[in-house]
Amino acid sequence: MELGDLLRFSHCGKTVLTAADAAPTDRRCPECGRAPSFSLAEAPVRVRSPVADGHRTRCCFLVTSRDGAEGLSEEKDCELHVGISNSEGVVLSYTASGVQRQQRGWQQSIVVPLVAPGDGIPHWDEELDRFAAADAWTPHRFEEQREFGSCCYGFALGFINRMLMSQGKQPISRERFTSDLVLPRVRAVSEYLALFRHVRRHGYWTA
Ligand SMILES: [Zn+2]
Repeated sequence: MELGDLLRFSHCGKTVLTAADAAPTDRRCPECGRAPSFSLAEAPVRVRSPVADGHRTRCCFLVTSRDGAEGLSEEKDCELHVGISNSEGVVLSYTASGVQRQQRGWQQSIVVPLVAPGDGIPHWDEELDRFAAADAWTPHRFEEQREFGSCCYGFALGFINRMLMSQGKQPISRERFTSDLVLPRVRAVSEYLALFRHVRRHGYWTA
């Protein structure tokens, strides 16, 4: 299942979520059954999916799962795979076949930005290529493990720490990176997934 955006509006004293791609005439208030018209200040708000296309990111840490968005939530114990996007949305990750450079396959990703929007880090792509070419990332050294202990994580975090240190900053531990930057997003996916499923099944969610 691909997670899409939702639309949030208020009517009849309720907060309503519906699919963002629904036609305006299908945006009926579940309380009164009418297709509401909104004044400017009440305009529906788009709620962005916490899962995004990693190939449309640049210089980000990405987490994906072969089970799609469901695999990224807390409820499933799925094998996760992590990688780093370059400035053109090509994702580099360490697998049992060595380092992969992919232009597809990361369409459903949790995205952790590593660079401010609009900012570039000079030589990001060259540094990433150089890091990927190191001896450490050969196929025979790879040992896949579940969750966040896996070798792909070592590759991605190793690159982040190399960039941090090249800027004179302290490296970040796997535990801190995971708890501060990854787990909150996994939780957000789990919560969003529950709402999204409800909207798909019933047409709306209301509270
Ligand atoms: Zn209503």
